[in-house]
Parts: sequence; structure tokens; C-alpha cells
Amino acid sequence: MIKVESFIDLHTHTRYPDNNNFPAADIEFAAINGGYRDILAMPNSEIVIDNIENLNKARTMDNKLNINVHRVGALTKNLEGKELVNYKEFIENGVFIFSDDGKSLIDNNLAEEAFKLLSSLNAAIFQHCESSCHSEPGDIAAPNDDETLITIDEAEESEVLLRDIELVAKYGTRYHAQHISSKKCVDLIKEAKENNLPITSEVTPHHILENNENLDTTNGLFKMYPPIRTEEDRLSLIDGLLSNVIDAIATDHAPHPENTKTVDFKSAARGVVGLESAFPMLYSSGILSLEEIKRFMIENPRKILSEAGYEVEKSQINIWQPCNKEFTTKSKFNNSIFEKRNTKIEKVSQNV
Ligand SMILES: [Zn+2]
Repeated sequence: MIKVESFIDLHTHTRYPDNNNFPAADIEFAAINGGYRDILAMPNSEIVIDNIENLNKARTMDNKLNINVHRVGALTKNLEGKELVNYKEFIENGVFIFSDDGKSLIDNNLAEEAFKLLSSLNAAIFQHCESSCHSEPGDIAAPNDDETLITIDEAEESEVLLRDIELVAKYGTRYHAQHISSKKCVDLIKEAKENNLPITSEVTPHHILENNENLDTTNGLFKMYPPIRTEEDRLSLIDGLLSNVIDAIATDHAPHPENTKTVDFKSAARGVVGLESAFPMLYSSGILSLEEIKRFMIENPRKILSEAGYEVEKSQINIWQPCNKEFTTKSKFNNSIFEKRNTKIEKVSQNV
């Protein structure tokens, strides 16, 4: 038996508040199955969290769950990258992190305004770095020999990150790079940390467990942003964790209805679920020790949330036991790339 504190996910797409397509109870179920008790909810729900009325709609649903849902406000209205939201109002309502996750804040002038303003308010930006998110979002990382698919070059991510690092240097804004996927970004963050900039970053389990060498492009399940990249990138992300350049492992849990994933790669929705598979797959892979997993999935996420201003309660303990079986997602949306993989550990119960 292994006793592990509950994990804290810095990157969950709850999908709700919505039009009843995604039950809140399903996120709760997935989180509890995966050993999580605290999740940071991205604002790109079907009803976007870009005003207080929508925030309250979300919280009414959050409060009925047996997990702690911490809320992020949108950086711009309707995530369109054109008009900033009223950050002050959100901060007065206990929201201290802002992100357009799913999209980037691309407009340089507006980004400068946001970084300056959020710094003066002592709030944080969590950025999904993708330069063509508002124009022509891509499909797959290089090498790509399928002419129908748009290649997502590494520069898509590093261009936005580089601009942001310059803004952090100028304004001192607390900044977190979401789901980084490339060696270049690891190098940029390393340098920024050496310059003592207030920057943290995260990587997903799928980016450190998979490379794109045999990626099945007939299977829409493997479509996600950022895309899974080369073996060199994968190894640099693991190095990034071990050298404290990357602070956290976050799931980017993104439920999608089956009919949007079991289609051709070009038409498939982007994203995979991850709350239930994160710990079993990481533990089973053996690439990180249990102590390292705890640092990246509990200690550092708690520190990042606490420093931003959120209260993270003392954790509960989950009990896991060794096993040798196929991993299966139990919640409603099972768009996981780890379905039917071998797992060496399963959750038995939790003690409060
Ligand atoms: Zn994202």
C-alpha cells in the first residue's frame, strides 16, 4: 500500500458552467478517481468566466462538489484577445489568476497593458502560448507529411513565450507558462529563472510520456494543443522537471464528447482527459520517483496557488495499491490516450 496526499491540478477544463452537456459531477468523479482534491479551473467553459455573473454561476456548481475548485478569470472578453476583462472586480471576488487558455493573448499592445495592470494588482498571468490561435490554429507537430494537416512549428509556442518573458522583465508580472512542449521553451524558462524573473511553468503527463515518432494520425484521440513533439523535446521536458526549470505536472484535462474525437485527425477536437490517468501512468512509467511526483503534483502546485493568493487546505491522504492491469477511465468522457495501457497502481480509498 502507498499513502499519498491528494494531488493539485493546475490545469483542468471543467467545461461547466455550460448548457448541461458536461455534468459537474463528472469532473468531481474524475478528480477523485485520480486522487485529486484541488483543481484550477480554466475559464474557457461553455459559459466563459469573463464577468462576475458567470463566475458566480460556476461557483454555485463548484460548491456542490466534494473537491475544491479554484477559479481563473479570462484575460480578455470571450477569450477573443480584443478587450481586457475587469481584473479588479475578479480580484475583489477572490480570483487572482487570469488566462485565455485554449488561446493566447497575442496582440502586443493589449498584452503589454494586461501585464502592466496585473502587476500593479499583484495578480498572475497563466499563458497558453500559441501564436496563430486566433488566425490559423495548426493540427500536428513536425515532421508532418500529410498535406491536409497544418504543421504546428515549435516557434508557435516560443515566440509568445519570448515576448511574455520580456514583458515580465519589464513589469515584474507573476507569470506561469502553461503546458510547455519543446526544448526551446525549457531553455527560455531556464534563462528567465536564472535572471530571477517571477516565472513558473508546467508540463502535462502526455508530453513527458509520449513522443511523436509513431503518432497515429488516423486517430483523432491524439490531437491536442500543444502537440506531442520529438523524443528530444520529451527528454528536455523531463530534464526541465528534474532541474527545477519546470515546476509542475498539470493534466490539461479536457473532456470531449466521443463523436468529436472518433473522427479524422483534421476534424477532431483538440485535447485529452488526464485527471484519472496522470498518477497511474507517471508512477507506472518509472521516469520519476514517488518523491518527485509529489513535488510536481502536490508541493509545487500548492506553492504556486498559495503565492497567487488562493487558500489550499491541508490535504487528505489517498491509499493506492500495486496492481498489474489495464488502465480504464471511469468518468463519462474517456478521450484518454492511455486507455488500456498497463498500470502498476490503482487507488483503493481516501482518508480525510
Ligand atoms: Zn491550453
